[in-house]
Amino acid sequence: MATTDASSASVELDLARSSADPGGYRVVPAKHPWRIAGTVVAGLLILVTLHSVLTNERWGWTVFAQYFFDGAVLIGLGRTLWLTLLASVLGFFLGGLLAFARVSKSKLLSGLSWAYIWLLRSIPLIVLLLVLNNIGYLYPTVDIGIPFTDILFAQYGTTSVLSVFAVAVIGLSLNQAAFSAEIIRGGILSIDQGQQEAAAALGLSWRHQSLRIVLPQAMRAIIPSGFNEIIGLAKATSIVYVLALPELFYTVQVIYKRNLEVIPLLMVATVWYLIIMSVLSLVQFGIERYFAKGATREVQAPLLGRFLGPNRTARTIAAVRAAPQAQRAPLAAFDRHSHDVGRIDIRRITKSFGDFKALDNVSLTVEPGEVTVIIGPSGAGKSTLLRTINHLERPDGGFVSIDGEIIAYEQRGNVLYELKDRAIRERRAGIGMVFQNFNLFPHLTAVENLIEAPIAVQKLEHGKAVGQALDLLDRVGLSDKAEAYPRHLSGGQQQRVAIARALALKPKVLLFDEPTSALDPELVGEVLDTIKELAKSGTTMVIVTHEIGFAREVADKIVFMENGRIVEAGAPERLFNSPSHPRTAEFLAKVL
Ligand code: ADP
Ligand code: MG
Repeated sequence: MATTDASSASVELDLARSSADPGGYRVVPAKHPWRIAGTVVAGLLILVTLHSVLTNERWGWTVFAQYFFDGAVLIGLGRTLWLTLLASVLGFFLGGLLAFARVSKSKLLSGLSWAYIWLLRSIPLIVLLLVLNNIGYLYPTVDIGIPFTDILFAQYGTTSVLSVFAVAVIGLSLNQAAFSAEIIRGGILSIDQGQQEAAAALGLSWRHQSLRIVLPQAMRAIIPSGFNEIIGLAKATSIVYVLALPELFYTVQVIYKRNLEVIPLLMVATVWYLIIMSVLSLVQFGIERYFAKGATREVQAPLLGRFLGPNRTARTIAAVRAAPQAQRAPLAAFDRHSHDVGRIDIRRITKSFGDFKALDNVSLTVEPGEVTVIIGPSGAGKSTLLRTINHLERPDGGFVSIDGEIIAYEQRGNVLYELKDRAIRERRAGIGMVFQNFNLFPHLTAVENLIEAPIAVQKLEHGKAVGQALDLLDRVGLSDKAEAYPRHLSGGQQQRVAIARALALKPKVLLFDEPTSALDPELVGEVLDTIKELAKSGTTMVIVTHEIGFAREVADKIVFMENGRIVEAGAPERLFNSPSHPRTAEFLAKVL
């Protein structure tokens, strides 16, 4: 007890002294004897190594110097570099195609990709190279013509078309493709499904989703192992000596077999390999930094940006801001007359997941400009219903139409023809969706998030899209965050950007799936205020929420769902004050 008292007293004393005179102490750093010992040992090791390497004449540094820039060595080095570059580029390109084929919905594509990867990973590279080198034996001529007919446009001898170098490039690329496909697929799988859903909800095409949304994010996971592969490849190119192709290593061997200076010439190759790997590591560092934008909490200065200057979007933002207010095109995304207001008809929708019926014969109409709020316990099917409206979820039966247009079908007479993806995407672009988890694209700034779909789907001109995006951000109170990445925004700010992103397509209908459920209580208000503002402007909205007070204020109609069915629907006053169904009353008793 006494010691505790004494120490606490001394702490008080210390605090008093330090606040009076902060510079009054002498600081004694902690001692780390083991760290010092380790450092001394490491230093000694380096000295001994250097001493031995520099004084042992058998290393033959003079011979090394003589051959380091030797013409034959440089030609071999050039071949190694070419092989690495071509096989990396071709291998990763083919690997990318294989990876996307592997994750595609087509069973045939996916199976074919799987089989390729299985086969090429099983065959030793050396065997593959030798087989390819002997392909002239299997197929003496290369014919260009129409298959299964006698029509022939040209015919070449296989060995004259396929040089040894070409065989090496093809072999290394085919092999590389199988391995890089799996690395790229790993990267793709690491991206949250919500990203693709958000992209799909914006009407972006599958290709656009893959190349602009998923791949740039996946690159963060792809690059470290990808560069491992490239570095491995740079060294593995030496395997083409089996084809008697004089790349760096083979050339060095030829020389030392002639002059017997084995070690110095191996050192020539080693140092050149060291240089190649160092350059590759530097390149990797730069590329990693590039794809890290927006990925961490810290704001990182763009490495390339310093050389290239601000990008096009940043320049446009600066230009728009510099223009006097009066010159800016007036924009009225929130105003009643600036866009169409849609009517939603949900007819007898059913949807099962396996045996489980998530939606059971649900019908609902939302009049133009009406705000409908869906409430109900978790698992009631609220999200599923919302997702059938923009066809993120494909119903088993029934259909949804917006202004009489069925979202996924073309009606001709009594027959419904399923639409192609592109047509579905176009209709989808008229339906804005805001997700519980925001699903902003983390590698794009707020403005970039907002302009992606208007430019890609509605073919809006870049400058106009940026101007509109700035106005929308202004409307949700975030004009100062135009160039911030989502990770540098609070949850409430992210959700407001997500709302602005949904508005950027001037949708006829807006869907909100628990837009405030992922937010801290003090951030809920700012998002609800934004939605209230929208509701006043007369946009057709369907909102799933647990915020009963908010529902009472904005809703024209409340829908209570349970077990995949609509239990009852009505005006907020009526439904909240005198629910007609006992289950509604029970639910309200819990949440009110
Ligand atoms: P809510 O949004 O009302 O909480 P959901 O619409 O998300 O409910 O889900 C309704 C029911 O359907 C839940 O029981 C859920 O487990 C089930 N469900 C939703 N999506 C899937 C899916 N992809 N696979 C299997 N079951 C699902
Ligand atoms: Mg839900």
